[in-house]
Amino acid sequence: MNKFFSLAIVMAIFSQVFSYFLMHYYVQPGDTLFSISKSLDVSMSTILDWNDLKDPKRLRVGEEIVFPIPDGIIYTVREGDTLESIAMRFFTTVNLLKAANSLLSDVIYEGEKLFVPTEIMGMAFNESSKFIWPAYGLITSKYGWRIHPITKRWSFHTGVDIAAPLGSPVFAADDGVVKFVGKNGGYGNMILIDHGKYQTVYGHLSKIDVFVGEYVKKGQLIGRVGSTGISTGPHVHFEVRIYGKHTNPLAFLPSSNRMYVLKEEEKWMGGE
Ligand SMILES: [Zn+2]
Repeated sequence: MNKFFSLAIVMAIFSQVFSYFLMHYYVQPGDTLFSISKSLDVSMSTILDWNDLKDPKRLRVGEEIVFPIPDGIIYTVREGDTLESIAMRFFTTVNLLKAANSLLSDVIYEGEKLFVPTEIMGMAFNESSKFIWPAYGLITSKYGWRIHPITKRWSFHTGVDIAAPLGSPVFAADDGVVKFVGKNGGYGNMILIDHGKYQTVYGHLSKIDVFVGEYVKKGQLIGRVGSTGISTGPHVHFEVRIYGKHTNPLAFLPSSNRMYVLKEEEKWMGGE
């Protein structure tokens, strides 16, 4: 039996149990995250999500990189999650999520690891405004004056808070270039994307899946919801700036009761 054939059988057996196959790659001289992403056909966001790379811009020769085939990420089920709520967080459908995990029922349990292929993410983004919602969740604090939940003092809230379970995906609100990633005081782990006239900011992340200088597409996975910095629980602080000055993000987003919308074609494709 030749190698390819036996590998094909192993993969077929794997796919019965797991919905993905884990690849191990060792960094070769001259490799960059971009070149690995291109040659192995896996997104840079996926590589960064699966690996704790010290410096994504300077890979060490021989360093091991793991990633799944097909391209996708793991979501660990949290208390209170349902397949429907998880599908919404990934802007996908319950049926696609079930198919990707060979689930026969809607029963899931806390701590269960679900595989979410990149291909099925984002099909329910509402693209009717300038920006898409970077995460699906509950708006817990709007832009403007408020009593700060921690200091209990009046202070100006410079963005909108979207509460979602730890590890929920965060997506780029629009195409742009990443200008900042890392810890930034009360923002915790933060990403700043430059869109020209506008900039968007994503705070309190538990994981960052992009690097400075990277060109990101609207809807690309950029990180995961967390509670880093000054925060009372897992949420994304989403900020829109015009030439560096914060402004009300709700003016550039679809209405909050229509964060998740299925495109017409998916509605009729949706049946069992
Ligand atoms: Zn906030």
